Amino acid sequence: MSDKENYHMSSDEFKRFGYKIIDWIAEYHRDIESRPVLSRVNPGDIRAALPNTAPEQGEAFDDFIRDVDKIIMPGITHWQSPNWFAYFPANTSAPSILGELLSAGLGVQGMLWSTSPACTELETHVLDWLVDMMGLPRHFKSSNTGGGVIQDTASSATLSALLAGRERATKYQSNKKGVNGRLVAYASNQAHSSIEKAIKIAGIGSQNLRYIDVDENFSMIPEILAAQIDLDLEAGYTPCFVNANVGSTSSNAMDPLQEIGEICARRNIWFHVDAAMSGTAALCPEFRFIHKGMEYADSYCFNPHKWMFTNFDCDVFWVKSRKELIDALTLTPEYLRNKASESGQVIDYRDWHIQLGRRFRSLKLWFVIRHYGVEGLQYHIREHVRLAQQFADWVRGSNEFELVVEPPLNLICFRHKDGDGASQKIMETVNAAGDIYLTHTKLNDQFVLRMSIGQTKTEERHVRHAWDLIQQAAKTL
Ligand code: PLP
Repeated sequence: MSDKENYHMSSDEFKRFGYKIIDWIAEYHRDIESRPVLSRVNPGDIRAALPNTAPEQGEAFDDFIRDVDKIIMPGITHWQSPNWFAYFPANTSAPSILGELLSAGLGVQGMLWSTSPACTELETHVLDWLVDMMGLPRHFKSSNTGGGVIQDTASSATLSALLAGRERATKYQSNKKGVNGRLVAYASNQAHSSIEKAIKIAGIGSQNLRYIDVDENFSMIPEILAAQIDLDLEAGYTPCFVNANVGSTSSNAMDPLQEIGEICARRNIWFHVDAAMSGTAALCPEFRFIHKGMEYADSYCFNPHKWMFTNFDCDVFWVKSRKELIDALTLTPEYLRNKASESGQVIDYRDWHIQLGRRFRSLKLWFVIRHYGVEGLQYHIREHVRLAQQFADWVRGSNEFELVVEPPLNLICFRHKDGDGASQKIMETVNAAGDIYLTHTKLNDQFVLRMSIGQTKTEERHVRHAWDLIQQAAKTL
């Protein structure tokens, strides 16, 4: 130890470096457009620039910032660039970043109500707000039979829902005796890979996940689902879970919730709706067509960390019956017993998801909602959809490109009329130049370009520039 009493950063140093970091972040966001969107490092480059061993003596904070610029930044792919059109967005905003910082500053672990009442109560309250803000079914509210919880990701939300469905179907016997190999689950063949992963983790087995065929819009065909369930019942299987997409990953396909929900309700099968990216659209009443039939859902999730200006991680998850979810997941060792929990008057969120410990994630969501207000959020969501629809019009009007499917919201799936090779070459050309970043999928075995519009700061000029670059790349074929 030097002349200091201990090794900690002093309060004054913390303030000084904290201001520097905030300045750094503000400048990063201000100038982000000048950076190539995709990192250009080769595998191993970042590690090669780092020392082989950890420092024996503490180092100066200014040196960390210098190394972030020198070593880390070349290895960053700029998800927050307004020229980000790849995958789905993982957008953020200034109020969200500040909420995240405050959460780290408080450093609470909210596994039980009593381990920080505000962590639980703010979360319950904000998720109740969202039910009203999005016109979701009333039973998702905590004052009703259900309630909402923040999960890290949609993958975790799906797994929690699946476990609740599994326990309902086996009368809580799978939890006790293990899974019997006769449980079956259903999703469209466009479902996200997280569904199959959950099926594997829950011990149901990927061969017991039935992929249901889709129509020309890549939406699940409910008649095929019903027929498959009947076949499985006749063969002695126990259907336990159906997943529907509101906005599939490949093409933003919408499954018919109403018809699927009726099928599940008749057979008492857990019905989960995954709206990871597109759920945010329901902030605007004119886009609530995506939720038609949601009243049948036993559980529902979407990701504010994709399209609602709230930085990763933040998935919001509601259930119709909190009792069923809690009964599937609760376990109380002696060391967690406390009076508040036993009074039955509080929510202990540890019983609502896989892990025990939990961060104070609702702070950032609360900050975002309060900063933008419903009106501000609606404005930006409408703007993204407007820009996407404008892009779709440009594709429709072009001699070289065509839409692969009609876009319901903010994802445009399109291709070059010369086919897969041409489309792929165009994507590689624009990505190599670095100004924008675009990714692809396959639909009906064809290579398809995905223009995904939802980055916080994306404006019309960015979308127009992207279209210009795509057209220029087509000319070099
Ligand atoms: N579901 C859908 C429809 C998705 O598009 C995605 C990711 O893109 C996921 C689930 C997984 O999201 P997460 O990373 O939150 O688990």
